[in-house]
Amino acid sequence: MELVEERPYRFRIDPHDGMRVPGVVFASRDLLSDAEQSLEQVANVATLPGIVSASYAMPDIHWGYGFPIGGVAATAVDAGGVVSPGGVGFDISCGVRLLAADCDRQGLRGMLPAIMDGLGRRIPRGAGPGGVWRLSGQEELERILRGGSRYAVEQGHGEERDLTRCEDGGAVADADVTQVSERARERGLVQVGSLGSANHFLEVQEVAEVYDEPVATAFGLARGQVCVMIHCGSRGLGHQICTDHVRLMDRAMNRYGITVPDRQLACTPVDSPEGRAYLGAMAAAANYGRANRQLLSDAARGVFRRVAGVRLSLVYDVSHNLAKMETHTVDGTPRLLCVHRKGATRAFPPGHPELPEDLRDFGQPVLIPGTMGTASYVLAGVPVGDAFHSACHGAGRTLSRHRAARTVTGRELRARLERAGIAVRPKSWRGLAEETPEAYKDVSAVVAATEAAGLSRTVARLVPLGVVKG
Ligand code: 5GP
Ligand code: MN
Ligand code: MN
Repeated sequence: MELVEERPYRFRIDPHDGMRVPGVVFASRDLLSDAEQSLEQVANVATLPGIVSASYAMPDIHWGYGFPIGGVAATAVDAGGVVSPGGVGFDISCGVRLLAADCDRQGLRGMLPAIMDGLGRRIPRGAGPGGVWRLSGQEELERILRGGSRYAVEQGHGEERDLTRCEDGGAVADADVTQVSERARERGLVQVGSLGSANHFLEVQEVAEVYDEPVATAFGLARGQVCVMIHCGSRGLGHQICTDHVRLMDRAMNRYGITVPDRQLACTPVDSPEGRAYLGAMAAAANYGRANRQLLSDAARGVFRRVAGVRLSLVYDVSHNLAKMETHTVDGTPRLLCVHRKGATRAFPPGHPELPEDLRDFGQPVLIPGTMGTASYVLAGVPVGDAFHSACHGAGRTLSRHRAARTVTGRELRARLERAGIAVRPKSWRGLAEETPEAYKDVSAVVAATEAAGLSRTVARLVPLGVVKG
């Protein structure tokens, strides 16, 4: 793939082979050293009907189903623009939430092991069923699918402020529960309030460095402070919804005269029965994902309170796998777009009306997990931004799960992390090994590229104290 360096940290793929727009990749050459396959995916996405501006890739780009992970693509609804489930991914509304403790590391006074033990017992994880919340049946599941974390808070599993600090006030509108299949419901019923497999985690962290004092203060973060980061999504329910709707769209595409270079890009117009059905089901899964993170926060709060008398306040909750209807100015004209972010985080600029009032002057918190052995970051949206106000979502994989698990055993890895002062509460040794820090790119390089490309600014670096892994 030929990359034209437009300026440092911004490369262009010129349109060829049916691409309707160029590809734009934000990264350093170093970060792209083994990205050939995922760059082809960037080019494939550029062929989608109605796509505007460019097919974008973030610095943590790696190979994904149809779309690359770290991909951003927007389609114009009034130009036959399509929606593609592969542009959201299987873990619909997978995302990150960060809670700030009202104490620093010293304040935990040796209670960290007991906190980790408590979390290890209390946080359901791993593949398969089990969650902190047992639902009474289908009706209650539908209340979650419509109400998201708002419903969880109404039921006593959180505080009102949790909703103002969650994207969309804790629930997206337009969830259409009639588009959620029987099988998706079955899977969803028994997994509410659970992490899932090993790329998902609940981590106790310490703020190791603050780069932007005023913004960090506004976010409620200070050097030395203890935090909790939760990364999980919509479990089997979201996965099933993606599977179901990819199949429907794959069958329907012909009828709309759509051809794609890769079947995994199956799509139909946003404004079509299939497009609306997917978006309605996707919104339901997004609400499930938020309720999931809300319930796990509630469980973590209980452990911190009981063991250490420590309070946790929500900094922010943001999805990194979602399609959103948003209005953006394209070539001077405001247009209604379906913005797909897959392994990419929305990064609203300062002043954006959808930001909570107390954060509005500072830009949206962008939460970037790195690895359980290195660091994670908090960034903030910037005034100009790019890629429809998007940023990276993590460090990004370099080794497949299979290859990662061949480099180290879970037991060895746990011993190594514990020696480095990081408590590990794994569910499966194999799952732990698949997530070895060497399986990921250097998160500091990814974050530096994200800032240098003008996508966001760096606010704070957090280091792990303990990790609960799927
Ligand atoms: P994904 O949503 O693509 O599965 O994961 C997002 C990011 O989470 C990955 O790119 C990786 O950087 C990060 N990550 C995976 N496991 C851990 C962990 O245990 N701790 C932290 N802090 N980050 C992780
Ligand atoms: Mn996920
Ligand atoms: Mn994720």
